[in-house]
Amino acid sequence: MGFSSALQSRAAHEALIVRQDAELRLMETMKRSIQMKAKCDKEYAISLTAVAQQGLKIDRADEMQGSLITKSWRSYMDELDQQAKQFKFNAEQLEVVCDKLTHLSQDKRKARKAYQEEHAKIAARLNHLTDEVVRKKTEYQKHLEGYKALRTRFEEHYIKAPSRSGRKLDDVRDKYQKACRKLHLTHNEYVLSITEAIEVEKDFRTVLLPGLLEHQQSVQESFILLWRNILQEAAQYGDLTADKYKEIQKRIDTVIGAINPTEEYGEFTEKHKTSPTTPLLFQFDETLIEDIPGKLQSSTLTVDNLTVDWLRNRLQELEGAVKDCQEKQLKMIEHVNGGSPVANGSIISNGSNTSNGIQSNKDSQCRQSKDLNALRCQEKQKQKLVDMIKCALNEVGCEELPSGCDDHLTLEQNFIENGYNNEQQQRSNSTSSPGLGIMNELMRRGGVLTLLRGRGRHFKRKSTPQPATPMTRSRQGRFNKMQPRSQSLGSLSISLSTNRPLYEEEWFHGVLPREEVVRLLNNDGDFLVRETIRNEESQIVLSVCWNGHKHFIVQTTGEGNFRFEGPPFASIQELIMHQYHSELPVTVKSGSILRRPICRERWELSNDDVVLLERIGRGNFGDVYKAKLKSTKLDVAVKTCRMTLPDEQKRKFLQEGRILKQYDHPNIVKLIGICVQKQPIMIVMELVLGGSLLTYLRKNSNGLSNRQQMGMCRDAAAGMRYLESKNCIHRDLAARNCLVDLEHSVKISDFGMSREEEEYIVSDGMKQIPVKWTAPEALNFGKYTSLCDVWSYGILMWEIFSKGDTPYSGMSNSRARERIDTGYRMPTPENTPAEMYRLMLKCWAADAESRPHFDEIYNVVDALILRLDNSH
Ligand code: ADP
Repeated sequence: MGFSSALQSRAAHEALIVRQDAELRLMETMKRSIQMKAKCDKEYAISLTAVAQQGLKIDRADEMQGSLITKSWRSYMDELDQQAKQFKFNAEQLEVVCDKLTHLSQDKRKARKAYQEEHAKIAARLNHLTDEVVRKKTEYQKHLEGYKALRTRFEEHYIKAPSRSGRKLDDVRDKYQKACRKLHLTHNEYVLSITEAIEVEKDFRTVLLPGLLEHQQSVQESFILLWRNILQEAAQYGDLTADKYKEIQKRIDTVIGAINPTEEYGEFTEKHKTSPTTPLLFQFDETLIEDIPGKLQSSTLTVDNLTVDWLRNRLQELEGAVKDCQEKQLKMIEHVNGGSPVANGSIISNGSNTSNGIQSNKDSQCRQSKDLNALRCQEKQKQKLVDMIKCALNEVGCEELPSGCDDHLTLEQNFIENGYNNEQQQRSNSTSSPGLGIMNELMRRGGVLTLLRGRGRHFKRKSTPQPATPMTRSRQGRFNKMQPRSQSLGSLSISLSTNRPLYEEEWFHGVLPREEVVRLLNNDGDFLVRETIRNEESQIVLSVCWNGHKHFIVQTTGEGNFRFEGPPFASIQELIMHQYHSELPVTVKSGSILRRPICRERWELSNDDVVLLERIGRGNFGDVYKAKLKSTKLDVAVKTCRMTLPDEQKRKFLQEGRILKQYDHPNIVKLIGICVQKQPIMIVMELVLGGSLLTYLRKNSNGLSNRQQMGMCRDAAAGMRYLESKNCIHRDLAARNCLVDLEHSVKISDFGMSREEEEYIVSDGMKQIPVKWTAPEALNFGKYTSLCDVWSYGILMWEIFSKGDTPYSGMSNSRARERIDTGYRMPTPENTPAEMYRLMLKCWAADAESRPHFDEIYNVVDALILRLDNSH
């Protein structure tokens, strides 16, 4: 069915016109779109050219010489540039296509116009004839009516006229005849016009219109053909699979395919060929430990009380890591071998051999074997550390862990020199001399003799667990001549009894801290036995001086016997005797031989000798008691240390005793001894009956005279002058830390924070600092000197004159600190002599060097007192 038969109606004609309009619009859209595509492609071509140029900006450095990958890349980029050119060409062709579409659209527009005109033309003739027929008919009707009227008139005249003649009749007849003629003419014209119209209409419908439509169809179809061709062309220029592109792609594939991993580094390797690198040498820098003799050794793990737990934890961690590595390796091998571990732990191929599969399989094998190697290395490395730590821990064996911290060594050394000399002095002075203090006093009264009951007696074998060999017998002789260092009472022998408790043995030193022990053992073969509490468990330790100090923990067998490396014995005493007599080393590794038992020092009192009477105070470490020494009936003050405190705290507690041991001054509280045989450990001191100065001041505020207050200041200055001369910085001088006896004499006490140094720098934080008593430079920079004690002494003076008031009362520590830093100083307490207040202010000089030393302070106060005494 074509246009000619199907589209004859007026509506179809109009639809055809509308359709052509729509097609023209579609054509416009296509044109715009193709134009856009051409533009896009052009831009893409430009970008692609830029990409290729960018890609060609490659490093032309020598290192890449001979690199196939570089060469391929260059070719690849060149091809990309070709691709860009092709894109540009195609885009230009698309623009041509676009022009064609424009021409087609113009032709189409013309054809549409021609069709419309032709259609109008043939339709106009038909319309004209149709109008003619209508007009002729109207004329016909008009003439027919005229005719009829004239005929009627004629008939009337004719009938009326008797003679059938007359002028009137002739006239009417004439008119009638003319009308008749007109009608007939009109009739004929009407007939002719109808006939013509019929002919024209028939031609229009059957010839002209179909002809026009048929032509129109062929024209439109030819347009469609052109249109299709144009679109085909457009598509062709956008075809990325076109041969041109395929060729480029093929060339790209070829150049990339030319990359050969095995040849890639050929030239490079050749050029840079060197012999294998020498291994890096990691060496312990010996200079690091030059100044730390003994404790730390190069490339050797340090196992001591500070590090043992850490080492054990580290060992555990490392063992875990080794296990982890092993499990991972096993899993990896199982995974690769499809769940079957292989005896030698190697990875075998799983047989996948598709073309891609071969490479990826090879890669993954390579990767897995690399991972496996890494795991093996890790395991080996960790195992090495495990072995090292194990070895170090094993080395210690039954030796007690050495103390890692020697922060008291200087102090101890001091004591060895001062304390020991004192003893010698005491020994050489059979009679007491003033200044030797309470120990001489005790000795004079025979107290020390009693205190040191049994001391210095020889180690005498009553029953040895093994028959004595000639060698041991000869040694027995020497044993009897042995002079314990601290004995001063002649050559007595120490008897050994398996019946008495260990703590009664003279060579058993109880929980004496290791630092003290080390100080007592001076010559190879010196030994003593002591107790240590580790992880809440008591251990008995044999300490020996042998190429340094060795500490052996007495091992307990399942049967309750005691041993080192040799045979077990029923008691520790027997074990020690065996070691002594046999002259066998305690452990093979240490080679330590026991030659001379070291007995307790005079300071080491027996706990059982102290009878606690009543609590008189509470200290930082435990309660303070009034007590009596059984042996001398002497009233003493005893500071106890709570058993639950950690070792470190116990050591700190004993520090006060260690410091006080060396001092002998009426204004420094005196030490009588320490009790470390058993818990609780105690410090025994002279009993100062008035108790704490602070409490005393507060209680006696009404009855205190200026003279008494000045006397207290002078006492404190005397004590401090003595300490300054000994290079001792008290660091906590305050009324609460002074004691007062019944004659108002003040004694400096509480040496818990003291340091024996000219200058002491605090580096581990400033916990529990008595801020209101502490000098600014100590607070701000942790720098302590005796001049800091001078500042505190100023506060002590203020406390004495204010009769126990709290300094800077109403101010918090930080507020007081702030104000002091901005120059504030406390006002003078009521009734304070002006000179004394002036002295206080001097003590509080911001610049430490401007403060007076204790010597000067003492002289000033002493002079003021003298003046006062003389004025009365
Ligand atoms: P810590 O040093 O443990 O803080 P202190 O030295 O401050 O202990 O003593 C606490 C209290 O015990 C003092 O305030 C004082 O009352 C009393 N005290 C301490 N030592 C003696 C002593 N030698 N004579 C009399 N009382 C003492």
